[in-house]
Amino acid sequence: MAEFDYDLFVIGAGSGGVRASRMAAGYGGRVGIAEERYLGGTCVNVGCVPKKLFVYAAHYSEDFHDAHSYGWDAVDPAFTWQRLRDNKDAEIKRLNGIYGKLLADAGVTLHEGRARLLDAHTVAIGKAEVRARHILIATGSWPYVPEIPGAQHAVTSNEMFHLESLPSRAAVVGGGYIAVEFAGILAGLGVTTTLIYRGPMFLRGFDDGIRSFVAEEVRKKGVELRFDTEVKAIEQIASGGLRLQLEGPGESTLDTGLVLYATGRRPLVEGLGLENAGVELDERGAVRVDEHFRTSAPSILALGDVIDRYQLTPVAIAEGMAVAKDLFQEIPARVDYEAIPTAVFCQPNIGTVGPTEAEARERFGQIEVFESVFRPMKHTMTGSGERTMMKLIVRGSDDRVVAAHMVGPEAGEITQGLAVAIKAGATKAQFDATIGIHPTAAEEFVTMREPVRR
Ligand code: FAD
Ligand code: NDP
Repeated sequence: MAEFDYDLFVIGAGSGGVRASRMAAGYGGRVGIAEERYLGGTCVNVGCVPKKLFVYAAHYSEDFHDAHSYGWDAVDPAFTWQRLRDNKDAEIKRLNGIYGKLLADAGVTLHEGRARLLDAHTVAIGKAEVRARHILIATGSWPYVPEIPGAQHAVTSNEMFHLESLPSRAAVVGGGYIAVEFAGILAGLGVTTTLIYRGPMFLRGFDDGIRSFVAEEVRKKGVELRFDTEVKAIEQIASGGLRLQLEGPGESTLDTGLVLYATGRRPLVEGLGLENAGVELDERGAVRVDEHFRTSAPSILALGDVIDRYQLTPVAIAEGMAVAKDLFQEIPARVDYEAIPTAVFCQPNIGTVGPTEAEARERFGQIEVFESVFRPMKHTMTGSGERTMMKLIVRGSDDRVVAAHMVGPEAGEITQGLAVAIKAGATKAQFDATIGIHPTAAEEFVTMREPVRR
């Protein structure tokens, strides 16, 4: 009997686990994967994909309104949440099937159920046990809700995708990606929405100019922003709604129909049996790995949200490819975490790549900043007050464009292209020598000539 059932056994069929297992099988490895909940993981089931579908849905409310200025009459919109939710569920079911087929076609054996480490080479899935030369932990993360009185009345992003009905009022607690995106979704779907954030300005970590600009735009879309405010307790009230006890400027209570907590996600390691295999966690509770994704147990690797470097799908996928190459091609692959582009799908979107202005100043000393704020062409006819903002940061020492930040329609789409140029080391002179595409918003990135004087 062979010493091992598998060369690689992956725990978690999400973004990172699926990519690592498919590639490893493609390189000739005998690969198994365990999944306890849903194929495709967070991204496909309760993350990027259904979220983006909801963002599209939310945008229609504005589009119906704007259509009038473009000559369209008799648009009388009415929204049915259950139809959106059920159509989204059907699409996700289709994607689950595709993921299953991708694994099967690659020759990866799927074990449905919760996996637990028994030792550094053995995994239990229910009553079954498998032995593997290498084990990859790709279990992702789970929403974190602070312990306050009444926290059980709050929902997380997980539940937002399956609500029975939409409330007329909602409160969103947090100031990161999920809070800002869901505040936009809820407001766009007609829910009176308040976002409550503990600090003076949300979206910590993003460029300061972008943060304050997007705050203004989000307010214009009807979201009430309450900064410097903490939720002390949540209680159920006679009307069947919820009352938040608040500490901060303004009213000390807020009555609402739903409270969404979007206060971060923690690595999902509970009940994994890490202690049986000698896998250590770091001070933040993430699985500790080296640059080749090896944990403190030499036969066990980890990647994606569970190592908590960047909680982004393309990063988990890149890490999955690196692991498969490392194990089966003997290419000691590393992931380059410099200049990771990302988008926040609020309304309008944020797209960003490279350091913030403050970080760039600190890292590079002398920098030049180019900035442009304008009304998107579409809104010259709609009466909407929406504005777009673009920003380029150029390193003084060699004219290299080190960062691009944007708030505006399709900012994610535009930033992806700019990220290639920035990764390739393009200079401002090369941006200037690039002919624009007219009329687009994106052409502004190659026509900004005068640096901002601060
Ligand atoms: P996951 O995709 O979470 O997969 C882990 C899998 O492991 C899960 O399927 C889980 O069920 C399974 N599992 C866990 N424990 C066990 C066990 N013991 N046994 C068996 N199976 C187990 N990222 C973006 O890049 N763009 C976005 O627009 C975006 N939007 C998001 C929106 C929301 C609301 C959320 C919550 C996240 C979003 N993300 C987005 C982040 C992205 O979803 C994650 O970074 C990504 O899914 C991480 O991939 P992963 O493989 O590490 O984990
Ligand atoms: P984030 O880390 O982005 O934001 C968490 C927010 O919660 C921060 O504003 C934080 O405040 C606040 N917070 C944390 N703890 C508390 C607390 N105890 N009380 C009150 N507020 C608190 O996490 P999200 O949950 O929004 O999303 C998780 C991750 O998923 C993101 O970081 C991102 O990597 C990924 N994601 C990516 C998306 C995309 O690519 N478009 C979309 C959605 C998610 P403070 O800043 O003060 O610490």
